[in-house]
Parts: sequence; structure tokens; C-alpha cells
Amino acid sequence: MSTNYNPYEDMLADLTSAAAMLGLSPADFEKLKHCERELKVAIPVQMDDGSVQVFDGYRVQHSTTLGPAKGGIRYHHDVNLDEVRALAAWMTFKCAVAGIPYGGGKGAVRVDPAKLSRRELERMTRRYTAMITPVIGPHIDIPAPDVNTNAEIMGWIVDTYSMMTGYSVPGVVTGKPIEIGGTLGRTEATGRGVMITAKRALEYLGIKVNPVRVAIQGMGNVGGVAADLMHGEGCKIVGVSDVSGGYYSSAGLDIPGILRYIKASKNRTLEGYNAEGCTKISNEELICCDCDVLLPCALENQITGETANEIKAKLIVEGANGSTNVDGDAILAERGITIVPDLLANAGGVIVSYFEWVQNMQHVSWTEEEVNRKLEEYLMRAFDSVAAAAADKKTTFRLGAYTVAINRLCKAEKIRGFFP
Ligand code: NAD
Repeated sequence: MSTNYNPYEDMLADLTSAAAMLGLSPADFEKLKHCERELKVAIPVQMDDGSVQVFDGYRVQHSTTLGPAKGGIRYHHDVNLDEVRALAAWMTFKCAVAGIPYGGGKGAVRVDPAKLSRRELERMTRRYTAMITPVIGPHIDIPAPDVNTNAEIMGWIVDTYSMMTGYSVPGVVTGKPIEIGGTLGRTEATGRGVMITAKRALEYLGIKVNPVRVAIQGMGNVGGVAADLMHGEGCKIVGVSDVSGGYYSSAGLDIPGILRYIKASKNRTLEGYNAEGCTKISNEELICCDCDVLLPCALENQITGETANEIKAKLIVEGANGSTNVDGDAILAERGITIVPDLLANAGGVIVSYFEWVQNMQHVSWTEEEVNRKLEEYLMRAFDSVAAAAADKKTTFRLGAYTVAINRLCKAEKIRGFFP
């Protein structure tokens, strides 16, 4: 990520464009620009060698207009408050686009988790949870996994929060293991949503799924599942990459083999992968490689003013949050390249998180078929409302998504009125 990139400013730029298009009142605009609540904590952790390290942690709630705040927790050595603010705001808009009764929040700890032992990671997670306990809860703010966090970490959060409240509260987070109240289908939900929205967008553009050529940046929870499912749909996956670099093959990559390789590798990366007919490429080359569909599923700010002109894909489906910056977005719009924005493309994760929370609240469990069927229904509905808004305003899907979200949020604000 370039050092002067600020995702909060990019979020404000999109919000400003959408607000101008909708003729939003200054009061409504001001409210959406700001985060309702921001908590910063300093997390002391006893390391295995007896020393103490202190990590910065955050929990930000952008909006609770439509319901409790909802959003993941990220562990990353480079994270800062503005990034968490942007991610929290995007969650507000994403939940509104998806039509689920949540606001937006996000949490993060500034740490490289690869440098911690498992015990250190657990101690840090538990202390962070204790420090944000006053502002989270199943009716207040519900965290979930994000970059470098997973179901096991969610399990530690459930346990810590439950110990602090005195009774078991599985609904405090989503994305937890099935055995303690997680839902079937959650691990795959975001990648599945990327596949569903990609297929729907191809249909919208009149392009046949088979034999479309796909390139995927990021082979983690989102990108790995999207790769597997798109491959299963008969697409030819010509390029993949992760933090260690990437691979390209015009004949198509062996996706099941690559996924097995990543799972078995020490760092869970592609590092050292080798197969006949594939060329090693950099992440920049992956973004600009010869393909029909590009799925950025890693981090923010990957498609920029520098790379957007070189992109060959006709369709970009943003598995990652904020993968296209404002400059890149303007160039792609000018070039007529369709982007299914993050607010829609990766909403599968939060939609199935909502299903998990509903099951926790009602003490019931649904089958995987039921979860996947409902996920498709919610995403199709969201896609259609975004496409209709974009067509109505003669604008991009990204601004279409913002207008759908802003309209829903402002309507709810008006109905609720102004406190006090
Ligand atoms: P993850 O940690 O499981 O995977 C991230 C992947 O990106 C890994 O393959 C990693 O090697 C790769 N990566 C990291 N830095 C990179 C770089 N500089 N260049 C190329 N690849 C790089 O994370 P994830 O859960 O898959 O999340 C990916 C993105 O999707 C994030 O933007 C996240 O906010 C977003 N997202 C995730 C979910 C979810 O349910 N997990 C939901 C919505 C949005």
C-alpha cells in the first residue's frame, strides 16, 4: 500500500460524489461523514519470553442507524485509525445495500500476527476483547473475522466476553466455529458471494461464464474460495497471486492443486509453487494480466491511477474492501470497464454473518443449503437494486451502490427522528 494512500479520504470522495448526485441535505451528509464512536486501546501482552509488548487496537462504530454495528477485526502491522474508520463506514453502506438490519463497525490491532506464537496471539486477542467489551455485544456491535483473523480467534473472543459477562454469549461475534454457535456456510460465504455476483454481472453484460478467463489477487479466505467456486463453475483461472507473488498460465491453472499446496505450506502461501506451463509473475503483473474477469481479493489500493490503464479485464469484482482507489476508479469508468464494487461483491460474508446471528438469537440452526439459498436471494436482490440505481442515475455500479445505501440510511434517519 503506498504510504500516502488514505482509505478514509477515498471513502469520503465516493460519498461526496453520491451525495451530490442525490442532492443530499448538509445535515444528512455531515452525519454520514463521521463515525459515531471510536475507541482506541493500548494492549499490553506478556510475551513467551516474559517481556511485555504493547499493541495499538481500535474499535470504530460508524453508524447504528439501521441496527447494531457490524464488522470484522483485522490484525495487520500497517493498520491505522483512518483505515479502520473507512472500513467501518464501508460496513454501514454494505449492510444497507444488502438489506440487513445492521450498522457498520470495524476493529483492528496493529500487529504482525506471524511474529507471535499461538499463545501470544491468544493472550493478545483476549486482552483486546476485554478492553473493547464495554462497546461490543450482540445488540451493540458484533465483530467477525477479517484479514489475519479466523474462526479460532472468534472462539477466544466468545469465551473472553462470556467470562466477563458471566454467561455464555455466542451472538457477540459471527464467523465462530460451528461447535460454539457458528453457522454452516460462513467460511465460504464471502468467496461464494464473489462468485454469485461475478456470474450475475457476466449475465448482465451478456458474457458467457464458460469459458471466461479469471485472474485472482489474494488466495486467502475470500480469494481461495472464489477461485475454487469459479473453477467449479467452469471458468478458466489463468492467474492467481498472494503476498508472496503470483502465477499465470494461459491454459488455466490447476486450482485444486494450488489450494492443496497453500494449505500444506508453512506460511499458507504460494511461495515455492511450481507447475508445468505456469509463469511466475508479480502482483502488479497479475492485476494487469490478460484475462476477462479480475477478482482483487487481497487488500486496499491495488488498482490505482498507475495500473488502471493497463488492466485488460472487462469486469472487475471486488472481493477485497477498497481494492480500487479513487484515481483508478475514474480511469476504469472512463474506459468502460464494469466494476462490481466491494459494497456488493463481498457482502456475502456479512449476509451469512447476519444469518448466524439470527440463528444464535433464536437458538436454532439452519442447513447449509438453506444458508446458501438465502445468501443467493439476498445478493440477487442487492445486485438488482444497485444495477437499477446505476441505470437510473446513468452512473457506475459503485455510485449506484452508494445511492441505494444512502437512500435507505437517510429514510431510516428521518423515521427515527433526531435525538434529543
Ligand atoms: P486473508 O488474510 O484470509 O487473505 C488475504 C490474502 O491476501 C492472502 O492470500 C494474502 O497472502 C494476500 N495478500 C496480502 N497482502 C498482499 C499483497 N500485498 N499483494 C497480494 N496479495 C496479498 O483475508 P480475507 O479474509 O481473504 O480478506 C481479504 C479481503 O477481503 C480484505 O480486504 C477483507 O477486508 C475483505 N473481506 C473479507 C471478508 C471475509 O469474510 N473474510 C468479508 C468481506 C471482505
